[in-house]
Amino acid sequence: MPSSIPSGLSHLSDPWDREHLWHPYTSTINPLPTYCVESASGVRLRLSDGRELIDGMSSWWCVIHGYNNPDINKAAKEQIDRMAHVMFGGLTHAPAIELGKLLLESAPKGMNNIFYADSGSVAVEVAMKMAVQAAVSKSGSHKKTNFVTIRSGYHGDTWNAMSVCDPVTGMHTAFGTSLPIRYFVDSPSVGFGQEWDPEAMSQLETVLSEHSDEIAALILEPVVQGAGGMRFYHPQFLVEARKLCDRHGIYLIFDEIATGFWRTGKRWAAEWAGVEPDIMCIGKGLTAGYMTMSAVMTTKDVADTISLGEAGVMMHGPTFMANPLGCAIAVASLRLLNSQNMPERVSHIESQLKKLLGPAAAISGVREVRVLGSIGVIEMENPVDMASFQARCVEEGIWIRPFGRLVYVMPPYIINDRDLEFLCKKMIAIVKEGASSR
Ligand code: PLP
Repeated sequence: MPSSIPSGLSHLSDPWDREHLWHPYTSTINPLPTYCVESASGVRLRLSDGRELIDGMSSWWCVIHGYNNPDINKAAKEQIDRMAHVMFGGLTHAPAIELGKLLLESAPKGMNNIFYADSGSVAVEVAMKMAVQAAVSKSGSHKKTNFVTIRSGYHGDTWNAMSVCDPVTGMHTAFGTSLPIRYFVDSPSVGFGQEWDPEAMSQLETVLSEHSDEIAALILEPVVQGAGGMRFYHPQFLVEARKLCDRHGIYLIFDEIATGFWRTGKRWAAEWAGVEPDIMCIGKGLTAGYMTMSAVMTTKDVADTISLGEAGVMMHGPTFMANPLGCAIAVASLRLLNSQNMPERVSHIESQLKKLLGPAAAISGVREVRVLGSIGVIEMENPVDMASFQARCVEEGIWIRPFGRLVYVMPPYIINDRDLEFLCKKMIAIVKEGASSR
């Protein structure tokens, strides 16, 4: 990702912030500019200088109902007056139980046990630990502890999560041999909507048949690979992967952290394929961007196999597990989702995105435009300069954070047609400027 900062933009950041606060993926010597947000409401971010930006990012895909939602605010305030937190070891509480019931009502039907965790990355760690504990317990072999995944994936920034991110665009180079070595197969070769080709499974089939004695699970993002490249792939890959995992005695983990809660047009992206995982990670939209919280769901079989294993328990138990405030907020968010016709809402956003972004395909320098659910992607031929692109976005009243060759939007579901049109038209205009300035 290019991180050379045009010197003319450095004045944008708060000097103290620039000197002392680490922002994601930017240098402390020459950091990318930051813009100070004073408040946010609906789909608008209000900067401290009074400017308003229409948010195309849902704050890294989690603010699904928009900012400052009155129902969620109310739930948070009521819960904070009752208790913000209480430990989950030996104690329980109504928000955790209520959230669990709501999740299992809508989860794939095999899901039975829920582990509440702190963030998406930690959910991935927990899911991988679950798979190892269950695989060792079931097979009786301490060798069955590795993972296979598909390239172009992204699963988070903690150690094991990093190890299954794409080995080229992920952090393998920075961390070298300190990362566990995983099996990688090519990212699914058949795109969403293309004609299925059974050849797409051949690498996975080979790895599983040669190494199933060492592999606990296959982990992947179903249908949409997000931060690893915004790729949309054929759901049949998941159908075939499920069959292969069953045949070789390997657990299947779906990381629905980015795709869950209707982002792709289905409640879970796995529904495009009609297959169920053994273990499933959710996060981001779970708390609608209010709190950091995630969950891992699994089958009774996996949970009980862990309990029958050597340790006899799931070996994880974070301080903030099932934080009541987070659970109460998640309950309010799920109720909001359940009260709306989400398939219709997302399909409307999808058709708008197709109509508005489609013409960008004709711009020179644009490689492809793709839309699925409420995700709209413009893939460029060359990497985009994030700092100057964002500066132009802010000047034009929108908020987008491109990465690599990808300029994309994932707006809050509450966005109206007028704001979506504004967002997409400005985005295309800025893409066009970049293309013509080269
Ligand atoms: N998994 C996927 C698919 C993600 O997209 C992300 C974050 O973008 C994560 C895991 C990590 O989540 P978090 O940033 O909450 O740790």
